[in-house]
Amino acid sequence: MRVIGTVLLSLLISLGVVRTVCAQESPLLLSSVSLSSASVTEGHALQGTVTLNMAAPADGAAVSLAADPASAALVPSVVKVPAGATSATFAVSANVPSSVTIYGNYGVTKSDSLSVVPRMSIDQVADRVIERERAVVAEMKHLHPIAETYIQNLKSDHDSIVAPSSDQYFLGRLDLSKGVDDQLFEKQTGLSLRALNLFPGIFSRKFLPVGFAQMVMLDQDFQKKNYDFKFVRQEFLGEVRCLVLDVQPKGNAGGRFLGRIWVEDREYNIVRFNGTYSPHSRYSYYLHFDSWRLNLQAGFWLPSYVFIEETNFKGVGPLLPGLHFKAQTRLWSYDPEPLKHSQEFADIQIDAVQDQTDSAKEAGPVEAQRMWERTAEDNAVDHLQKVGLLAPQGDIDKILQTVVNNLIVTNNLEIIPDVRCRVLLTSPLESFTVGHTIVVSRGLLDVLPDEASLAMTLAHELSHIALGHRIDTKFAFNDRFFFPDVNTFQRMDFARNSAEEQAADTKAMELLQNSPYKDKLANAGLFLKALQSRAPELTSLIRAHLGNRMEEGKNIRMAALLSGAPALEANRVDQIAALPLGGRVKLDPWSNRLEMMKTKPVALLSPQEKMPFEVTPFFPYLTRLNNAPVERAAAQ
Ligand SMILES: [Zn+2]
Repeated sequence: MRVIGTVLLSLLISLGVVRTVCAQESPLLLSSVSLSSASVTEGHALQGTVTLNMAAPADGAAVSLAADPASAALVPSVVKVPAGATSATFAVSANVPSSVTIYGNYGVTKSDSLSVVPRMSIDQVADRVIERERAVVAEMKHLHPIAETYIQNLKSDHDSIVAPSSDQYFLGRLDLSKGVDDQLFEKQTGLSLRALNLFPGIFSRKFLPVGFAQMVMLDQDFQKKNYDFKFVRQEFLGEVRCLVLDVQPKGNAGGRFLGRIWVEDREYNIVRFNGTYSPHSRYSYYLHFDSWRLNLQAGFWLPSYVFIEETNFKGVGPLLPGLHFKAQTRLWSYDPEPLKHSQEFADIQIDAVQDQTDSAKEAGPVEAQRMWERTAEDNAVDHLQKVGLLAPQGDIDKILQTVVNNLIVTNNLEIIPDVRCRVLLTSPLESFTVGHTIVVSRGLLDVLPDEASLAMTLAHELSHIALGHRIDTKFAFNDRFFFPDVNTFQRMDFARNSAEEQAADTKAMELLQNSPYKDKLANAGLFLKALQSRAPELTSLIRAHLGNRMEEGKNIRMAALLSGAPALEANRVDQIAALPLGGRVKLDPWSNRLEMMKTKPVALLSPQEKMPFEVTPFFPYLTRLNNAPVERAAAQ
């Protein structure tokens, strides 16, 4: 679609139709191009009409025509409006399923669009979709991505302002090898049991947390005999052209999908499905979800994001309460060997270095201690990456590194070995240090409103390093990591004692006062106020799995910044104290690599749109794996 401008221009030039309108008294111009239908089946034709702004002269008026993409539909290069007439018709024959724009030019260019829908019957499409979906179910049995579900229960106040009233968090590895199962990371089992109690009986068993995992698959046993399919339209999701189908279960069997599916039109993989399971009954109620998949492997679109929302305030049956919540499930760490791939490069470098070191230096006691601590640090960081909790090194680390360097340089700090920065892939807001490695969670990066708030976060962690707060060197022994992934939160703990926390806060204030961020600390203080104001409700988001909580009771990290911050004004649209989750960092669910999201800035229209710390629906921009050559071929 992006190339339309140049394509059209070159088309029109080649047709010799880019002309200047002569300075006649009243110019004869094309006033419209219209089509008899907005869609047509491939291989069929429809009628187009060109209309002029006045009657054609004695020799008629030749209107040039072109279709874009030219391969998708055939139109005559010229249609002649006869003398004295204002319009003429022409045939458009549809060749290839696509969105097509028909352009006409006489003095000016006008256009109209149509969809060419595939000739395959809905029945044939359904066969292909089911075949692909069964392949995805089989593939998913071998894959064990991490699944994170974060739920925000909502309440509306007297002014109908909706805000979170409580939250729940689950992190686990998805295991579909024996049906739907979700292996929770330990230290959370207590949490999930408490969460279950919020929902009575059958409801809880159905939904938490297994029910959330279920929504990544449409139907574990997807069969044509169980469903009716109806074609709705064609639609682009990102760069991917999709057929949109409505799907309804036949008969009354429980747990069947009911809703709409988006199917990419090359291999007929489901890329999005939106709806619920049916039927609802007095005793069970299925949640509504919008589930998205990304093209992570050749030929496979794998579950990546699910948004779940219920706004059923009144209750859905005698045994089921009213529901008002929204939730996100994110999946990542599909690649079973993340560490191996990202270290191939490092291994080669080490070989090269060994060749040159004839005069190998021996380590003295101080150096030996530093190397020992660095070993513990490297082991711990590698383990976190191996289990899929830490992103491989990447561009976002460099952004964090730049801010850390600003703090180091302006404070003349000398730190050996170097400080490094990494990103934890989870949503809860936390940061901590592993030796000289500063780790910040993806969720925290998302909600921080500006660079000064990021500098505040990093300054606290850098202070631990500058003050010599040490890593537990038990991690220097490799056997310490021989435990199941899901025990990671139990076995690894980088929390500091309260004396170290206070010392780091004090030191961090000093670092910030000497830094380029010293005049912008009011914003950082404002962020802390926002955090403090939401902390009572968002206990699962504002908690630490591996480090220290940013907020604990009345104590908040870097509390000295609060006094310099303006008052929190929830109703002011231009005061942004904290951002929603998911707005900054984009995660590749296969490789765990991170990049900054490319979103355009949006002016907020109401305070409701501020949504600090809140979850929102997903609308990923879908692309095909190794997209470029295919799309280019299609455009020609
Ligand atoms: Zn700390």
